[in-house]
Amino acid sequence: MIPVIALVGRPNVGKSTMFNRLTRSRDAIVANYEGLTRDRKYGEGKFDDRRYMLIDTGGITGEEAGIDSAMAEQSLQAIDEADVVLFMVSSRDGVTSGDFAIAKHLRAQGKKVYLVANKIDGMDPDMVASQFYELGIGEVFATTATHGRGVKSLMETVFEELPEAEEEPIATSTGIKIAIVGRPNVGKSTLVNRMLGEDRVVVYDLPGTTRDSVYIQYERFDKPYTIIDTAGVRRRKNVSETVEKFSIVKTLQAIDDANVVILVMDASEGIVDQDLHLLGSVIDAGRALVVALNKWDGLEDSHKQYVKNELERRLRFIDFANIHFISALHGTGVGNLYKSIEQAYNSATDKLSTSFLTQVLQDAVKEHQPPMAANGRRIKLRYAHAGGSNPPVIIIHGNQTAKVPAHYVRYLEKTFRTALKLRGTPVRVEFKTGD
Ligand code: GDP
Ligand code: GDP
Repeated sequence: MIPVIALVGRPNVGKSTMFNRLTRSRDAIVANYEGLTRDRKYGEGKFDDRRYMLIDTGGITGEEAGIDSAMAEQSLQAIDEADVVLFMVSSRDGVTSGDFAIAKHLRAQGKKVYLVANKIDGMDPDMVASQFYELGIGEVFATTATHGRGVKSLMETVFEELPEAEEEPIATSTGIKIAIVGRPNVGKSTLVNRMLGEDRVVVYDLPGTTRDSVYIQYERFDKPYTIIDTAGVRRRKNVSETVEKFSIVKTLQAIDDANVVILVMDASEGIVDQDLHLLGSVIDAGRALVVALNKWDGLEDSHKQYVKNELERRLRFIDFANIHFISALHGTGVGNLYKSIEQAYNSATDKLSTSFLTQVLQDAVKEHQPPMAANGRRIKLRYAHAGGSNPPVIIIHGNQTAKVPAHYVRYLEKTFRTALKLRGTPVRVEFKTGD
């Protein structure tokens, strides 16, 4: 399972700068989707060949009493769920009372914490280090997030000390892996129970896995599937047991490990920002996607129309995904999800031939030439081949490809998606340049 690293510290110490440095950001693509509220707090990075999830827990200052706000609560929970904490302080500011408060909290948690003294530029590292020893965290790693100084040796130490990824769970999953995700109370547990309770479904109880989410294997019409259950339905011993706390880390890990994500939203409440944050995470992960607008039962016609307008307005950028209006409670529309799940999975994993991709590319270029690069030279796109699946990655070779503007990338993605008849999966176009 991919390790989770949390960035913690007072505002302004350089967390988001560090975050950007440590994650590979697809902002150029994602930022252009209108209506998508970007939550910049979660990202993915790689050190050598090891992937990690990075969380910027911007919500704590250690100073104010607002720690009980929902925001801070999520941040504290994220710290709790992280494998490693990078506690950032500012060399410019020296030790502050806020730093002490955060240090105290972290020490009490018994987490693996690294103290990162940022903004070391122009300062004497030894002087800075000696001040921050006071926090009782241990070794001080001096960094300049803006220029990357000290970041490599910090990450080297982190990964040296981080245990290698665990073995796969005892029972490896079979069939399409479907993550059921959504914010609290949208009906995830009800949907999981409904999917497992359908006719012709045989559920295999799994021995306990090491993962946070529960993996449930089952067969439907003799075809194997695995639900990644973030709501913890099966873990509960009886129905009255309280619902698990919503965990963003668990949700992100489920998305990461799934083939297809069913994003559940609550139609009775419409589309809220947190839905869009989750949607952003699914897109970032490149996962195949099916949207389920749940609690469609008992809604006034006018409200249904309102929700449809909202979908049109805010979810236009995921026009590649099927949207289902369902009632998990009554079972309406639940069986139909499978058609979209299959379609999305097949689209995400189809083999794509070089000759066909190249043909599509050449037609697309003929239809719309890429623009002239700023240096007056024409961008040339020559051929394309497949570079991965789930999501499908299409690698385009040519010249000056670093200069291809974002709008043209989106044009190519759309053209490929249409020509390949892909439904339910995002597509990624990447470039290799000859000069
Ligand atoms: P956050 O509030 O902790 O996320 O802090 P930001 O990443 O937004 O950084 C706050 C300010 O400090 C920004 O103006 C950054 O450009 C600046 N900053 C971040 N890292 C460094 C650094 O290493 N050196 C210097 N001089 N400035 C930095
Ligand atoms: P979770 O937190 O996402 O797992 O949500 P639950 O499955 O626990 O559902 C939260 C509440 O919504 C419960 O009271 C459910 O009975 C209710 N609920 C779930 N699905 C539906 C639905 O399709 N229609 C209606 N009206 N209520 C639902």
